[in-house]
Amino acid sequence: MTEEKNKHHKHLPPPRDNSGWEAVKALVEGFATTLKHLGRKPITEQYPEYKRKLPERSRARIVLTHDPDGTERCVACYLCSAVCPVSCISMQSAEREDGRRYARWFRINFGRCIYCGLCEEACPTSAIQLTPDFENIQRDIITMVFEKEDLLVEGCGKDKEYNFYKYAGVETAAGKKGSHEKEDKPVNVRSNMP
Ligand code: SF4
Ligand code: SF4
Repeated sequence: MTEEKNKHHKHLPPPRDNSGWEAVKALVEGFATTLKHLGRKPITEQYPEYKRKLPERSRARIVLTHDPDGTERCVACYLCSAVCPVSCISMQSAEREDGRRYARWFRINFGRCIYCGLCEEACPTSAIQLTPDFENIQRDIITMVFEKEDLLVEGCGKDKEYNFYKYAGVETAAGKKGSHEKEDKPVNVRSNMP
């Protein structure tokens, strides 16, 4: 096998050494870029006096939003905390008399959050949302732990129309659990166990 390979290589031309020429080319290109920018007017933005408006989808401070009817959106399903790569979300679920779930308490440790946005992606109710507000730095790391009352904001945030409970999960005047638009019948989770 090795002999075969050597035989084949005998017919190939020796490799050319271009490294000197490529180094010169890279140097010239680098200087050309510098020269191009030398005559340009510098752009200096005076922060915090001047604050650029960031896109709505920027990923910074996290909030919990409300339904269009003003009820807390979070149903304490734990999906955001399960998906969070740094485990900085924790909560305890509870249930109202009509079967609607909510978070008895909800906590985010912003000292650990990496603002990846996975919690927002996972949330079925559009409750948890990242906002462009990045000025959330504290000297004392303990003050970076936000409770539910710190996270809840008025209004629906980015998703103005969506109301999870129009589709699922609670008994209303329109019908029992499992009878609403696009809603499947409730599953007995214990029946899924092996
Ligand atoms: S943005 Fe990422 S790191 Fe921060 S709470 Fe959400 S999932 Fe966790
Ligand atoms: S914020 Fe969303 S994903 Fe997290 S527990 Fe509440 S409803 Fe579930």
